[in-house]
Amino acid sequence: MERVVIVGAGTMGSGIAHVFAQHGFSVLLVDVAEEVLQRARQTIERNLGRQVQKGILTEEEKHAALARLQWGTDLEAAAQQADFVIEAAPEHPELKRQIFSRLDAVCRPEVIFATNTSSISITWLAASTKRPDRFIGMHFFNPVPVMQLCEIVRGLATSDETYQITEELARRVGKTPVCVQDYPGFVSNRILMPMINEAIYCLMEGIASAEDIDTVMRLGMNHPMGPLALADLIGLDVCLAILEVLHRELGDDKYRPCPLLRKMVAAGRLGRKTGWGFYRYSS
Ligand code: NAD
Repeated sequence: MERVVIVGAGTMGSGIAHVFAQHGFSVLLVDVAEEVLQRARQTIERNLGRQVQKGILTEEEKHAALARLQWGTDLEAAAQQADFVIEAAPEHPELKRQIFSRLDAVCRPEVIFATNTSSISITWLAASTKRPDRFIGMHFFNPVPVMQLCEIVRGLATSDETYQITEELARRVGKTPVCVQDYPGFVSNRILMPMINEAIYCLMEGIASAEDIDTVMRLGMNHPMGPLALADLIGLDVCLAILEVLHRELGDDKYRPCPLLRKMVAAGRLGRKTGWGFYRYSS
């Protein structure tokens, strides 16, 4: 398996394309618009350049990685060339299902489909294809070239062979895979989001200031970043959407999103991306 098709060239898709190209795969990155692809190319070039500065890559390796990257806006044309597909389109269930049924119609039957979804059921997405046994979650973390972890998420029908091939692939791109079953939030968000939510409750109830809540977790628990600063980085709208999935799917009120989180999202204070969340950011 040598040609990986990546669908969606945003934050995650461009990072995933970067690591696959860096590790010798031929990569075809697909998005709906040329401008997005151009932006992704610039980001990848800049980030590869950073790795050269840090001594992780040589200048030649950077150029070789860039030469292995191709771009396109035609999903069907790309799908015909795929040996393995990774989908990193926006977190909209119906959009992802649509993309997978289009891919399913064109890709060779043996091609494995992986999704980078953070919160949508792998089993449910797999059911939109005729290859649920060759469907799996590959949950990378942002920024992909830096973060070591890849949660490999097994849907109800994912075969052992699909799991093994995918796990091996994660290792080949330098990641540490962990095996996770398909339940809401997998392991990462099942633990992280309730922690962030609880930090927001502490703030709402006036137990401490945002800075002090984050200091407790940084200095008391040795977390590299406080939960409120992390929520700002992830995006408060993304945190709310994931908590809603956990609350709805698991049916337990311990996952109820904090009213302050809802209020901040309603106000458009989404964190770093809008310049204002629990903290203010200057561009
Ligand atoms: P993003 O919005 O930055 O990128 C999504 C890209 O998909 C955009 O460039 C968009 O133009 C493109 N797209 C939309 N429709 C398309 C289509 N039909 N065909 C091809 N491309 C299409 O989103 P992101 O943050 O990169 O997230 C992508 C996925 O990764 C989501 O499922 C998200 O939950 C998951 N994820 C995100 C993070 C994160 O920290 N951002 C971490 C882990 C997982």
